[in-house]
Amino acid sequence: MSVKDNVFNKEDCFELMGESLGISGQLLDTARRAEEQCAGIYAEISRIKGYNQIKVLNAFRKLQIAPMHFAPTYGYGYSDAGREKLEALFAEIFGTQSALVRPQIASGTHALGLALYGMLRRGDKLISVSGSPYDTLEEIIGASVQSEGSLCDIGVEYSQIELLNGGLDFEAIRSAAAEKPRMMMLQRSRGYADRKSISVADMAKAFEIIKSVSPDTVIMTDNCYGEFVDTVEPTQIGADIAVGSLIKNIGGGIAPTGGYIVGSSESIQRISCRLTTPGIGGEVGSYAAGYLPFFQGLYLAPGAVAEALKGAVFAAAVYQMCGFEVSPAWNEKRSCIIQTVKFNNAQELIAFIQSIQRLSPVESNVLPEPWDMPGYRDQVIMAAGTFVQGASIELSADAPIRSPYIAFMQGGLAQEQVKAAALNHLNGIIGI
Ligand SMILES: *Cc1c(COP(=O)(O)O)cnc(C)c1O
Repeated sequence: MSVKDNVFNKEDCFELMGESLGISGQLLDTARRAEEQCAGIYAEISRIKGYNQIKVLNAFRKLQIAPMHFAPTYGYGYSDAGREKLEALFAEIFGTQSALVRPQIASGTHALGLALYGMLRRGDKLISVSGSPYDTLEEIIGASVQSEGSLCDIGVEYSQIELLNGGLDFEAIRSAAAEKPRMMMLQRSRGYADRKSISVADMAKAFEIIKSVSPDTVIMTDNCYGEFVDTVEPTQIGADIAVGSLIKNIGGGIAPTGGYIVGSSESIQRISCRLTTPGIGGEVGSYAAGYLPFFQGLYLAPGAVAEALKGAVFAAAVYQMCGFEVSPAWNEKRSCIIQTVKFNNAQELIAFIQSIQRLSPVESNVLPEPWDMPGYRDQVIMAAGTFVQGASIELSADAPIRSPYIAFMQGGLAQEQVKAAALNHLNGIIGI
């Protein structure tokens, strides 16, 4: 084909998906309609991405990031310039005094555990204001399950405020704050629960109520899956501490491992003494593989989050058009990157997860099957054709095999991958 011809043709991702995946003409028409319908939402996502990109760029410029900060370090890592700059960048972007950003933090759960154990002491009261926290926190808290060394086991008192009609119960939050608890925690993302993510506006309202009733209560936000979905982060609207994983949004799909905690100097000091020991805190910690992917990932993160969101919005639109129940709806305001789709039966659900895997850049040849995962009552099926093991800013999905047949999906470094996975699946199950 000549260059001249190429200027005039209308090749797009859907055309190539149609050819390579055998997607029916009718479904491709639906896909193009969904694409058109989503244009306004895509523009809104691009606007937020643009704002966050300049915010991140400004932080890099202000802190004069240079090649020396990417270098590997060894041993104790005293005065590790890369580590210190990375932490200063996070503090700048989140608008906090200080940050702890480490490859040694093994996961989001580890980061949340560090923040909780770092801040809470015997007799302190912890209240979750967003109902049950994420599954992996149950054993850390130890209220719903018996767990050796849990917060409850070491004498922390725990209670939770249930959600009201799927949102925050502001009046219950106000009365609970009046008891002057040591900490109130809020989970921004829906996680794997049947509820909405909590918007920046609702978070701001809750934080204001808490601070007005009990200024000394520490507000901690589980910010997993929430970073860069909006133009402000929880710590810029009143949260004292925010916590997350580097293999989700803020690692941009490039960070190979790690977690972060941002907050006041005093809080971060206490928490860093949990990561290492009292007397040492955050002053040690080297990384022989070098810090480049953390800097590069942070820089690319606003774009990665926007791609994931556009993929999710398209999936919501096209599944809705084909008669499936989705949450959030394609045009609903989002505060995290998770999308759910409800299927009619186990077969459709399993086919969805398998389609996500089949359209992945890594291990596309692997066929996931439901399995008896330890700790779960029902069989679970997961797709994760990711470069970084378990990275859920890359397209991934999972579901317990039980009614209602709901799949949770999130991530996608390229929106087209999400679109292809959705269309490949729909093409297989609805036969149009
Ligand atoms: C992912 C997640 C966690 C836990 O992070 P891991 O890295 O999986 O341990 C905690 N809370 C929320 C809301 C999450 O999405």
